[in-house]
Amino acid sequence: MKITKVFLLSLSAGVLFSCKEEGKPSSSPGGNSIVVSPFGHFENQTINEYLLTNKNGMQVGVINYGGAITKIIVPDKEGNFEDIVTGFATMEGFLQTNNPYFGALIGRYANRIGNASFSLNGREFRLEANDNANSLHGGLKGFDKVYWEVILPAGDSSILLSYSSADGEEGYPGNVQVEVVYTLTAENALKIEYKATTDQSTPINLTSHAYFNLSAWKQNDILSHELALNARFYTPVNQYLIPTGEMRSVDGTPMDFRQSKTIGRDISRVEGGFDHNWVLDKDLGEMKWAAILYDKDSGRQMEVWTDAPGIQFYSGNFLDGTLSHTKDNLIYQKHSALCLETQHFPDSPNRPEFPSTLLNPGEVYRHTCIYKFSTR
Ligand code: BGC
Repeated sequence: MKITKVFLLSLSAGVLFSCKEEGKPSSSPGGNSIVVSPFGHFENQTINEYLLTNKNGMQVGVINYGGAITKIIVPDKEGNFEDIVTGFATMEGFLQTNNPYFGALIGRYANRIGNASFSLNGREFRLEANDNANSLHGGLKGFDKVYWEVILPAGDSSILLSYSSADGEEGYPGNVQVEVVYTLTAENALKIEYKATTDQSTPINLTSHAYFNLSAWKQNDILSHELALNARFYTPVNQYLIPTGEMRSVDGTPMDFRQSKTIGRDISRVEGGFDHNWVLDKDLGEMKWAAILYDKDSGRQMEVWTDAPGIQFYSGNFLDGTLSHTKDNLIYQKHSALCLETQHFPDSPNRPEFPSTLLNPGEVYRHTCIYKFSTR
């Protein structure tokens, strides 16, 4: 493993890597860097924060608890760098029971599986129900609540996180090896590449649960953000947010984001707010734009690109101002941030009409999501 320009702030950091400029903080004008600093502890392991900086000064922080994104710092149209994702100042924040998956990697199955069960090859698998009778985001202890190993690959713009999910974890079959690579590119994009293999057939659906507010909380909510989604169809849900199986045209409905519009324009016409999966307008596996989010005042724009078939747009409906240990003591109220989670459709293991989420031994699950930032 060859490491260049990695600055180690703590010699007790539980990560094995070589280091050329040990002890020096990042001060790399015009260059990339990765700074590692201790963030806290979890299950007797040290949790570090990995701060990636690119040559433009954009920064992305990631911790190895839940593989969570802790910060994304990007310029506005005046060149002011600010953090545009929700997060916590300390591990206590991340560990609080009502942490709504801030920035975390989600697995083994992003979003919901109805009745917390599915059948595979004639056998019924019962999952941990943590959302009414359903399973949400992998169950009681999903990939967002585990320790991830970190490897710093050659170069100075990527970190690789890995996790082994044991056969039977949260009710899922098969030993699954997961790898996630976060890369901060020179074009101000955060690329997230997911990969998984298994020794038994299992459903898999990995995503990132970053919450964005492109104004960096100059505006308390995201209702004036403009959003476009590359989707002609969405998957309607029942009262428990489980898809009915239908793929319905967005035409003439509040779900129509084919032309960019403010999130606030039609939100009152959607019970509970937006929390749905859109069917991306592209071929299966094709890499294409999925969403464009824009905040006029700051001028910040975020494009979302993916090869996944769907995107969950969640307008932060359940944020209620009760979280503690937040960054800058911000109060995250209803709609104060939103998620754009590239994914397979919710409840696919029970919906043969949806693209399959089954991963079989010998196959490789891959998914890429790119969040690209600019201003206008
Ligand atoms: C889901 C919401 C859920 C939230 C948890 C989103 O991905 O779509 O229904 O409440 O995650 O914070």
